[in-house]
Amino acid sequence: ANSSFVHQIADDDIPVGAICQDPLNDTSRAMHAPHDLFGARTNSLGFDLDRAPHLARVQAAKVPAVTTVDTSASEARAALDRAHGAFGSWNEAGFETRSQILLAAADLLESHTAEAMQLLADEGGRVLADGLSEVREAVDFLRYYAMQAATMGAVKVLPGPTGEDNHYWVEGKGVFLAIAPWNFPLAIFLGQVSAALVSGNTVLAKPAEATPRTGLWAVGLLHQAGVPHDVLQCLPGEGPVIGDALLGDSRIAGVAFTGSTATAKRINIQLAQRDGPIATLIAETGGINAMVVDSSALPEQVTRDVIAGAFQSAGQRCSALRVLCLQEDIADAQIEMLTGAMQELRIGQASDPATDVGPMIDAKAAGGIRQYLSAIDANGAQRLAETPLGVFGDDPRYVAPQMWRLADNAMPDREVFGPVLHIVTYQSNQLQATIERINDLGFALTAGIHTRSDLRQAQFARSIHAGNVYVNRNQIGAVVGSQPFGGHGLSGTGPKAGGPLYLTRFIQERTQSTDT
Ligand code: GLU
Repeated sequence: ANSSFVHQIADDDIPVGAICQDPLNDTSRAMHAPHDLFGARTNSLGFDLDRAPHLARVQAAKVPAVTTVDTSASEARAALDRAHGAFGSWNEAGFETRSQILLAAADLLESHTAEAMQLLADEGGRVLADGLSEVREAVDFLRYYAMQAATMGAVKVLPGPTGEDNHYWVEGKGVFLAIAPWNFPLAIFLGQVSAALVSGNTVLAKPAEATPRTGLWAVGLLHQAGVPHDVLQCLPGEGPVIGDALLGDSRIAGVAFTGSTATAKRINIQLAQRDGPIATLIAETGGINAMVVDSSALPEQVTRDVIAGAFQSAGQRCSALRVLCLQEDIADAQIEMLTGAMQELRIGQASDPATDVGPMIDAKAAGGIRQYLSAIDANGAQRLAETPLGVFGDDPRYVAPQMWRLADNAMPDREVFGPVLHIVTYQSNQLQATIERINDLGFALTAGIHTRSDLRQAQFARSIHAGNVYVNRNQIGAVVGSQPFGGHGLSGTGPKAGGPLYLTRFIQERTQSTDT
């Protein structure tokens, strides 16, 4: 498998759509649709229940045993000393060597897909379909960045007058701090880490407080693949302790962060206030993501895509659909169909393949959502539909998928990071005004439109503020190399993970001009 990648790199042709060669026997890009996994019988979100050999393999896999201890401030500083010391030789090792190590890590991870799915379910509450997509995305990140990096080490000769030699090359910046979220504890974690590493940086990787075992396990795989221990160190523990210990240190060259907008701003302030150089900050934050549906849309397709966008991963995706804007004329019929589909969603444990919607990350997060719901309820919002929780109603980590209409047809005023969909309606002549209402929220992550009108598709794509626009499909599950993912505005600093320019944020450009 690797040799074909090397061949493709040499042709400077990134094979979009064929990166992950999955051990669960699906090499097509459609692998990212969960229904490819287990055959014909699917649960409501399309996760197939039948292909017994694969399912048996996943179910036979053990959750990897990983022990975790919180990193203290002094341990974090000692790790920085080591990472700083290791930078020179890792940077010198060259892009090709580092690229090969990432490819080896991808193979290793791929061969541990079933264990990874179990770990993601056990620690992160990720249902099996989500876990499988996440492993595939992580493998894709490793291979995609490896392929890009393979040719980045070449020194380019630049033009100049006779008697002048001009050279250009790129290298790592220094020590990167990678701060990952709990909702993609493997894919986003490894995406940040592998991009920083392959570019020549040494890395301090901070997994989310809720998912340290996944981070430690992934770092173990990278070590096994050949990344030296001082070059990549995992720092599980509390964000404020580790952040305060490191962000004031001038030896941190850059931070790659995924999480809330407020935390990204705090990191930016801490980096700006330290003595020493200006650091790079790559931040991917939240969104109040909307979808617009007009009267030409196909209601069944809308239903499928809304259910997936709003409720898959229990709505715990930055990309998730939060506000569904329905043209008045079709609103009642569409809401009715959505209500029916919501009754079909199966709530369950993460490791049960029949589960559509599992728990939230923890009871605290679920409690925050319940608090939000009581507040909007008190303010005159109306609950339009809700999936029955059944026996899971007693478990404080579960929140029922639900659909609300706020008083006065209002937009939500915050990102609600759970299975809560808001409905807004608009008159047929208010499309542009609706787009502007969405833009006024200030975020710019994902946006969707369902319409058969080419003109409206173009109008939407042109005027909506969003890093990722989706037309007549759902707006989650961006695929590496096909839908480079990331937003701007309140949604982040702009770089797109899994995109052609992502690595350029992690490198230092250099030139040398010699008078001969
Ligand atoms: N890339 C993921 C998607 O497209 C979302 C990542 C996130 O939640 O941060 O669904």
